[in-house]
Amino acid sequence: MKHFRRELWFDVPSRRAFINITPEINECLEESGIQNGLLLCNAMHITASVFINDDESGLHHDYEVWLEKLAPHEPVSGYRHNVGEDNADAHMKRQIMGREVVVAITEGCLDLGTWERIFYGEFDGRRRKRVLIKIIGE
Ligand code: ZN
Repeated sequence: MKHFRRELWFDVPSRRAFINITPEINECLEESGIQNGLLLCNAMHITASVFINDDESGLHHDYEVWLEKLAPHEPVSGYRHNVGEDNADAHMKRQIMGREVVVAITEGCLDLGTWERIFYGEFDGRRRKRVLIKIIGE
């Protein structure tokens, strides 16, 4: 069995963002030479997500509005976690958007649905953070 590991680094200049990382993941898959197996991609931070959905800007705006209703950033003092920090909302946003995705690899390609794309969800940016990619197979 072959295995491949890579970290992707991000330094998002804003507090929150959604970034399509499908092209970078495809590059990793190509480099791995793995034709059939499984790919795991997970955020390595507790205030960021990796998830699969549509690459459509209206939907990303809707996520932003929905997440802000569920876990508003302000008032910062409304969270017990926010003693010396202000990112309690980011922990909650990450929880609902998920930590990782697993994708089947078939004949050297990500075996995704037609509109499925892989995203990095940043909820507490303005610093360097990373995502792990692990691919196993043959
Ligand atoms: Zn925190």
